[in-house]
Amino acid sequence: PPVLLRTTDLVKHYDSRRGLWGRITGRPGSLVRAVNGVSLDIRRGETLGIIGESGCGKSTLGRAILRLHEPTSGSVVFDGAEITELGRDPMMKMRRRMQIIFQDPYASLNPRKTVEDILIMPLKLHGLAKGKAARDAAAAMIENVGLKTAHLDRFPHQFSGGQRQRIGVARALILNPEFVVCDEPVSALDVSIQAQIIQLLAELKRELGLTYMFISHDIAVIGYVADRTAVMYLGEVVETGRTRDILAEPRHPYTQALLSAAPRLDEPGKAARIKLTGDLPSPLNPPPGCKFHTRCPHAMDVCRKVAPAPVADAQGHMAACHLIDGASGKAEAPA
Ligand code: SF4
Ligand code: MG
Repeated sequence: PPVLLRTTDLVKHYDSRRGLWGRITGRPGSLVRAVNGVSLDIRRGETLGIIGESGCGKSTLGRAILRLHEPTSGSVVFDGAEITELGRDPMMKMRRRMQIIFQDPYASLNPRKTVEDILIMPLKLHGLAKGKAARDAAAAMIENVGLKTAHLDRFPHQFSGGQRQRIGVARALILNPEFVVCDEPVSALDVSIQAQIIQLLAELKRELGLTYMFISHDIAVIGYVADRTAVMYLGEVVETGRTRDILAEPRHPYTQALLSAAPRLDEPGKAARIKLTGDLPSPLNPPPGCKFHTRCPHAMDVCRKVAPAPVADAQGHMAACHLIDGASGKAEAPA
């Protein structure tokens, strides 16, 4: 399938000087290198998983792609259009086609609005429908996400967490988008509810022909939903490939550590756990060379100085690590 969305060298840095104290003292802030040169393709109809620890820049990446956070530099091409250069009105039109589902449905739903108002708002904002047509659209959408039209008159606090996320899904999809960033959509939910929402998202994707970027810190969730996966560490993509290839043969030492930390329900006790030593370095002050070198069990001298280039094999399985052999794309045995 053709590429629907491509980022090239996407960067989002922001000033850490926020809040009153920074403004009073006027002290220069520090640069948070949240997203640091991310190049990714998302093909039409696929789910691209984005996995990494909290603070690795996953959410910032999702928001920068939609320009909810303005990128610092780099390119985002959606369906052939460079969207980082769009003015306000054309971007508003584009935004209809690119939506986001947030992690915390409660925080993202206005507590004073009924579900009907919440669902109708985007239609009004985009001038797509009003009055009875908008109410009909809201009624149809609420049933699409497994709730009832009787729920339209209620307020967010009258729903369970899973139901609220269904409302969040309905709000994102009522504009009939093509591309949806799902930003940890099940992470705030009870495990028993997570599967229902994942199932719902999968059904809607099929029915509506959607393309997802699915952000999660949970390898089990990613393994279930994602066709391809990108692994992020400190604002960079360190490995990408088909999800099954990454799970079967993780090549980057960080991915190997992530996978070994995940419980293997199928084969308990099988994988010897690779311990990550040290804390996640701050994105304020990322280490030079390979950013993973402070925690990598295989770090060599070169890793502390030279950032490894991405190397891909014929299947498009890419990893950025000095241990990857340029010819085969496979990992060499660490010295
Ligand atoms: Fe580890 Fe070096 Fe590979 Fe980085 S480049 S992941 S430090 S072996
Ligand atoms: Mg996040």
